[in-house]
Amino acid sequence: MKQILKRLAVLAFPLVLMLSACATPPPAAAPQATSPTTAATESTAAPATTGKLKVIATFSFLGDFVKNIAGDNVELTTLVGPEGDTHAYEPVPSDSKALAEAGAIFEGGLEFESWLNNLYTASGSKAVRVVVSEGVTPRVVEENGQKETDPHIWHNVDNAILMVKNIEAGLIKADAANAATYTANAEAYVKKLEALDTEVETEIAKLPKEKRKLVTSHDALGYYADRYGFEIIGSVIASVSTEAGEPSAADFAKIVDAIKSTGTKAIFLESMANPALVERVAKEAGVEVGPELFTDALGKPGSEGATYIDAVRYNTKALVSALSA
Ligand code: ZN
Repeated sequence: MKQILKRLAVLAFPLVLMLSACATPPPAAAPQATSPTTAATESTAAPATTGKLKVIATFSFLGDFVKNIAGDNVELTTLVGPEGDTHAYEPVPSDSKALAEAGAIFEGGLEFESWLNNLYTASGSKAVRVVVSEGVTPRVVEENGQKETDPHIWHNVDNAILMVKNIEAGLIKADAANAATYTANAEAYVKKLEALDTEVETEIAKLPKEKRKLVTSHDALGYYADRYGFEIIGSVIASVSTEAGEPSAADFAKIVDAIKSTGTKAIFLESMANPALVERVAKEAGVEVGPELFTDALGKPGSEGATYIDAVRYNTKALVSALSA
């Protein structure tokens, strides 16, 4: 039936809409495509169900940004949800379908989504790809003699503002009819982010400079450290990716020594990473395990890290509280 419909589509588009309506069981209260203009620009293989622009955000922080700027004007799919590990993500068939139907994809870039190029190609997607890290000065770190780019740019709120502006531009490009809304929403959200930036600075000012020392599960808070005056002592997995695997015995000893010799008071778990390694290092170094931080993903809805603003606020309070001891 689908094949026949596809062939018919070329000849008689309006007829297809009628046939589709008859052939598919009506989903509960889901509005059908109402605007012929929108429907005509969609691929015939993927008829619109709401008439709205379909967009993808690759991970949860990005999804929150897109939601704040696009509001209800788009149908948003976030691939790696709350507490998900984007580095090690394995796409599922529904991701491919979502990509094929999308008009725009918002991605972090800087090799955060190492699986995205293959997924994009395999899905046959024609979506515009918007790399939201464009214009950010990347942090480059050396890992095992190799230079690696750190993708976790959103922990510097200035970078988040830049990401929001890239998202605004991407949305306007894909959906010019709603440009005024996207601009207004972006401006309002940027104001909130500016207030957040000031709030973080004020909170961190409570922590004496010599106590601003960071150890996390993987190297995820470098941009945060650079922006707000922390020193990165190291990370348990000495890598900007969670895919680096467990540290060698030598690396394990090195991070324990670094924690002891710098007088670091606490080391931190990350909500999306395995806690066991961090707990072992903390025990060996004789320091506290601080609370879980939201580094690569939002927390679940209703949690203290359910939105980007909540997550940054929570992380900051948790750091200041645990390191003040
Ligand atoms: Zn990460």
